[in-house]
Amino acid sequence: MEDTTAVFGAWPGDADVAVALTFDVDGEAAWLGEGPEYGRRLTLLSQARFGPGRGLGRILDLLAELDIPGTFYVPGHTADHHPEAVAAIVAAGHEIGHHGYLHRGTDGLDAGSQRAELEEGLAALGRHGIRPAGYRSPGWELSPETLAMLAGLGFSYDSSLMADDRPYWQASGTAPLLELPGHWSLCDWPYFGWTPYHGGLLAGPAAVEPIWLEEYESARQDRRAITYTMHPEAIGRGYLLRMLRRVITGMLSRGRPWFATHAQIAALANPPAVRIA
Ligand SMILES: [Zn+2]
Repeated sequence: MEDTTAVFGAWPGDADVAVALTFDVDGEAAWLGEGPEYGRRLTLLSQARFGPGRGLGRILDLLAELDIPGTFYVPGHTADHHPEAVAAIVAAGHEIGHHGYLHRGTDGLDAGSQRAELEEGLAALGRHGIRPAGYRSPGWELSPETLAMLAGLGFSYDSSLMADDRPYWQASGTAPLLELPGHWSLCDWPYFGWTPYHGGLLAGPAAVEPIWLEEYESARQDRRAITYTMHPEAIGRGYLLRMLRRVITGMLSRGRPWFATHAQIAALANPPAVRIA
């Protein structure tokens, strides 16, 4: 049972909404984790490499220009094979979270393999001096076994579940874990992440921009936190980066948003009001 009583009080600076811009830097891991046959698909892998190689830089430039912090969920494989990407994220002062090692879906793995994905991901980020406090399951499918391991491995929050559009407390083993929920409608991948093997809708930005801004207005009305989830491989394309800029400037022109990392939001959470189980 989740505790959905008020997790947060007022936001800093009299803000009326907390906005987390999050980016999953999947790189080639998103495909290699699907199976070894993807290792031969050079075009697909090159499309994936666009994320850390090109899209990420555009995102970092935009965030720097607007002075906004981001949260980057990075698979261990990406950290091992694109060290310059991790270094650039860290140098800009953004947060890095855990996103598996080879981006393998937790629901398809036995408990031992799930633990290995978590531990290998921690080791890879550790080689960059990073100890992540947050976790997001690859492909947004969180299994009971991985959920139960997270608190014990030192994580204090997760961003994989969707039972509420407000942050809530979730049990992880015998300890509480703060859930910072996202949603597919606030993710770029279902709209823009088309490949020959995993088709997205290929929606135009004109269709998505009002959805993201309307949900922002709803979050303002509720004075809640809101998480947007993006992928450098998708949102880092030129025309979509322009959409992201319009979304952010649209937010800045309406209300008083507090742009924050997941760690900054989690740091303000009140402890669970009731025992969670
Ligand atoms: Zn991912």
